[in-house]
Amino acid sequence: MLYRDTRDSSIQVSFREAVMRGMNPATGGLYFPVSIPKLPAPFMGKNPPPSFRDTAFAAARPFLEGEMPDGDLMAIIAAAYPFSAPVKPVDPVTYVLELFHGPTCAFKDFGARFMARVMRFFNQDEDRPLHILVATSGDTGSAVGSAFYGVEGIDVTILYPAGKISPLQEKQLSTFDGNVRSLSVEGTFDDCQKLVKTAFTDADLRKRFRLSSANSINIARLLPQAFYYIYGALAVMGRSKRDNHIECPQLLAVVPSGNFGNLTSGLIAREMGAPIAGFVAATNANRTVPDWLETGEYKPRPSVLTLSNAMDVGAPSNFERMRAMYSLEEARKILAGFWVSDSETLEAIRSCYDSTGYILDPHGAVGWKAWQEIRSGAMDGVLAGESLPPGKTGLRCTAETAPDWADACVKGNCLAMILETAHPAKFSPIVQRAGCREPVMPDRLEHVLSLPDRSVPMSADYGAFRDWLEANL
Ligand SMILES: *Cc1c(COP(=O)(O)O)cnc(C)c1O
Repeated sequence: MLYRDTRDSSIQVSFREAVMRGMNPATGGLYFPVSIPKLPAPFMGKNPPPSFRDTAFAAARPFLEGEMPDGDLMAIIAAAYPFSAPVKPVDPVTYVLELFHGPTCAFKDFGARFMARVMRFFNQDEDRPLHILVATSGDTGSAVGSAFYGVEGIDVTILYPAGKISPLQEKQLSTFDGNVRSLSVEGTFDDCQKLVKTAFTDADLRKRFRLSSANSINIARLLPQAFYYIYGALAVMGRSKRDNHIECPQLLAVVPSGNFGNLTSGLIAREMGAPIAGFVAATNANRTVPDWLETGEYKPRPSVLTLSNAMDVGAPSNFERMRAMYSLEEARKILAGFWVSDSETLEAIRSCYDSTGYILDPHGAVGWKAWQEIRSGAMDGVLAGESLPPGKTGLRCTAETAPDWADACVKGNCLAMILETAHPAKFSPIVQRAGCREPVMPDRLEHVLSLPDRSVPMSADYGAFRDWLEANL
């Protein structure tokens, strides 16, 4: 498989090059597969549905063809995924895809752990160390730090916005030692991302150091996220008939989104043949993509702080990949945009808890809110021609821009798979403020609370960051 540059499709590179470079410094473009392979029908039709690891292997193989022997790929998948992505039914038409069973309790473990092992594989015959720079709005850094911790020949520098992530998230980022360091940056997530992007386009710096990225811009983080969509969709479709007696249901993946890496992975899974009719792109007040779907105009903007802080992104980097896959019209057929305020996020945590007993984290709650509105008539209103009040939260489409699955929704033929992207115990104060009982803290989170803070304060100025890199890489 070759990977093309999103800014110049005549530039095509191998998987190895796409992974090791992260992005193309010459154009600023991201890498994307030149074509999306289809999963074989016998695989998709298996009954009972395939295991998570079998799904991961079948899905990954065509993307790495010719660049990694099957045995190595299988070993990487086995080592990366000692955990799975269980599907929890919470009512007859709603399934929660739990993506928090990895070591850092957030979905980014799926991408980071695969990427770390793929990079180690490709880095085996290099003599200079590889330096990974990663900007994080919360969970990326800990997932990447944890995934690379102790990996020989590779070190990781994590940049996070000081004071803008939860105390527990900060503990998870700042307590690494050895080959993983963290910088607490005086600024926003966008500032962190800008420092990293500037370093990558700094030709002089790149001459001296081998740099790579680990944000969702790296294709090796994006592809493995398709595994759980395929796995989850097959698992839901395999059991839905017994749960709800709907003939030929249409499955919607409801995706709480920030940088849109997760959603882009879902689009890849759908192109591969996963039985997903469409997606709800659910965001907080950082509604750049819902606005784009609504108006056709893409206006990146500064990020706004919200309760679902891992989604506080005003200029989502994977938008470029979504555009490389689809035109606006094509995207509107598949995706519906929805955005949610902080008070609605709290209400959603509470309403899910009251009606099902399930405790959501604030990110998953954004997805729950979107699905609650859609299943209880928001799409009916859209198809009946209701107009959109400007600047209001909720479903942002009209009869003209409604997705292809809108009709099925109105007829009651839709199911939702809500992606629960983090464990609620990571956001315990918010969850309790919403009126839930205190979520039980998993051991692996409890442990980091007792470790000392080792992060280094850093200004958002590129010069200062560069000096630090020169002195410390
Ligand atoms: C990163 C993150 C998101 C957003 O995912 P994107 O791929 O950036 O859209 C949502 N929820 C949690 C908990 C996250 O850590």
